[in-house]
Amino acid sequence: MDRIRKFLLISIDCWRYDALSRTNARFNTPKFDLLTQDFSLAERFFVTAPATRPSHTSLFTGLYPFEHGLYGQTYLKMFAGLPNLFQLFADAGAEVMGRSERPDVFRFLDFESFITPIDPRAKAQYLGSLEDLIAWMDHPSATRQFGFIHFWYTHGGYGLGGIRSAPNLRDWVDQGRAEEALRFYYAAVSHVLEFSLVEILKRASLDEWAIFILGDHGEGFCEEIMAHGDTLHQNVLHVPLLAHIPGRGKIEFPEGPVSMIDLFPTITKLAGIDVDYRGYGANLLGSPHAFENRWVLSELDSLYGIGFLTPSNLQTDSSRVTSRVSMDRVEIEKYPDGVRLWSITDGQQLYRENEATGDFVRRDVMSGEGLPCHTPDEFRSIYNAIRANSNYQNPEKQEASTEEAAILEARLRDLGYIE
Ligand SMILES: [Zn+2]
Repeated sequence: MDRIRKFLLISIDCWRYDALSRTNARFNTPKFDLLTQDFSLAERFFVTAPATRPSHTSLFTGLYPFEHGLYGQTYLKMFAGLPNLFQLFADAGAEVMGRSERPDVFRFLDFESFITPIDPRAKAQYLGSLEDLIAWMDHPSATRQFGFIHFWYTHGGYGLGGIRSAPNLRDWVDQGRAEEALRFYYAAVSHVLEFSLVEILKRASLDEWAIFILGDHGEGFCEEIMAHGDTLHQNVLHVPLLAHIPGRGKIEFPEGPVSMIDLFPTITKLAGIDVDYRGYGANLLGSPHAFENRWVLSELDSLYGIGFLTPSNLQTDSSRVTSRVSMDRVEIEKYPDGVRLWSITDGQQLYRENEATGDFVRRDVMSGEGLPCHTPDEFRSIYNAIRANSNYQNPEKQEASTEEAAILEARLRDLGYIE
């Protein structure tokens, strides 16, 4: 098979699984549906983290948060020396473009310099023009290209800011009016799909471009979680992945779960880029055996909070970030309510555990219905095996904070590696 020369990754922030006409009959996006009718939908696609920074870092490295170092949203840097898709394509001579409606959310990450505003002239990115970005797609067909586009309009206020008598959606959800609240969220997603994406997709010849459209995490809109950063919940972990690869027809996604970490090996393979990748991600077009009996991991760590987007982070010179959790060699402030959670899913059931308390839940990942769980050890041993068998152990010891070192030591003791 010929190598694919052109790749476009489109990330829609907070895009959850039911914000799509294929999964929700009330979703009205006829132009987007026509343009993506030959795209395949992965029905069991899960993110590695319910937060923008760690989730995208998994997309670009093919690694779980505990492997790439961004344990949570407010960790500052990745572990050193990990290949990322932007750099790999740039090194391979491709034209590389990253555009975001919120580029500063990627500050201090290895691929930060590749991601610029969607419209360099616009102050508010959602009011900007797509023309500059679309012009980038007009390279001759022989040119290698790698593009990433990130939409933020779907995040947080969903475009409600500044609207007179705008409702408080959290109050509505608390009052049992989640369906009404969701209409505003769905409207923001429709706006992105049915205008911005439509205009981009019109320009992309499907004979040339491999295109992946995905959510970096979903959004709660339920009693347990309103937004996305507070817990590991099916509404935030299960998101759409639409994929089109030239010349491959419909993609038969595996029965088992597909994870954000699978895109790195899939894309590098399609592009013919040689990279020493030893993560858990599997090529989506490779052997289906790689997906049998598979459990995929998601992690949440809010020990340093969940709000990265503060002036002190956004206006700080990169040179002042002296480790993953320190500036000017001083550890950043801890978040008093911080937690560490992990969850695993096989695409049918979700098991979640609080690392400090051992509290756990098991539920049907599609319906969210609670399931009995008499044997948490079964799930703990799956998780422990993922941690213990990872080929990316060493970075964790590179520059662990005191607390991280203590957590790691406790885990290794639990696993019987140290006395
Ligand atoms: Zn996000």
